Amino acid sequence: MYFLFAASGLSLTGTGDESPGLVAHSLLMWSHGVSRLWRAAYLRTVRSTFATVPFYRYRWAVDGRTDPVLVPGRTGTHGGAVSPAEVESAQVDLVPLAGGRLEADPSRGLGPVLRPLPPGALVAVLDEAGSRPPTDLPGRVRGCVLDPDGMADGASVVLAELTATLTRGGTVLAVGTDKHLIRLAGALPAEPAVRLGRRPLRELDQLDGGPYGLVHDRMLGYLGAFGACGRWHLDWHRVYARETDAGLAFTLLRQDSPRFVDVLVGGGVRGRVVPCPRHGTPVVLT
Ligand SMILES: [Zn+2]
Repeated sequence: MYFLFAASGLSLTGTGDESPGLVAHSLLMWSHGVSRLWRAAYLRTVRSTFATVPFYRYRWAVDGRTDPVLVPGRTGTHGGAVSPAEVESAQVDLVPLAGGRLEADPSRGLGPVLRPLPPGALVAVLDEAGSRPPTDLPGRVRGCVLDPDGMADGASVVLAELTATLTRGGTVLAVGTDKHLIRLAGALPAEPAVRLGRRPLRELDQLDGGPYGLVHDRMLGYLGAFGACGRWHLDWHRVYARETDAGLAFTLLRQDSPRFVDVLVGGGVRGRVVPCPRHGTPVVLT
């Protein structure tokens, strides 16, 4: 059994108040420049990446890229977007020259894509690969990682904590694949299992009609969530997406290292990025 409990006070935003930001900004705000701010953040990331991150520096200098064009006359292939395999094999060259973390964090961005949770809530990430606990959960929300292959005995410390929290009326939100969520519910006593909240993971090419779900990629982390409006909202404070001729390319706006810019998540999934007609912030249509 592998598990870890995380401190919850490491939110990138400090308060976690931006969770509703996925869906709470109005169309009016968008029309008054949010789209320009989003675009400007992306351009800043591209330029600083070209200046400081070896993988992109070499690739864009030799092959070029578009939108923005960094080397006059060199427009690159697929607008400069890169495949996940290329990025994964680059490893140390994704770290800026000044140094930084080498490993990707599959739990990155979980806190911001969850809707507001009550204090004392427990978020259980089901992951057989042993990822680290999420570090960006809202304040006073606890997080843990649970190996779905280690739940069969039903006697683990984590399962006992989940059961106790549910039994006393607390909130437990499980995050994982459909298969792992079913396995967890089966490992809990019947009554607490009914109260278990579930957020299924969806890869970019699996987006469905909800009613719940988180867009996830093992390298880039959590990219967005299914909103109450019935659309797949991007975490646009931290994630930029654009359309290329090879599919949707994603950029992490706030992660210095390893740097992920214009990655063709899922190997290149065709889709569009448009403002939500209800909320005005970007949603993906695939
Ligand atoms: Zn919406």
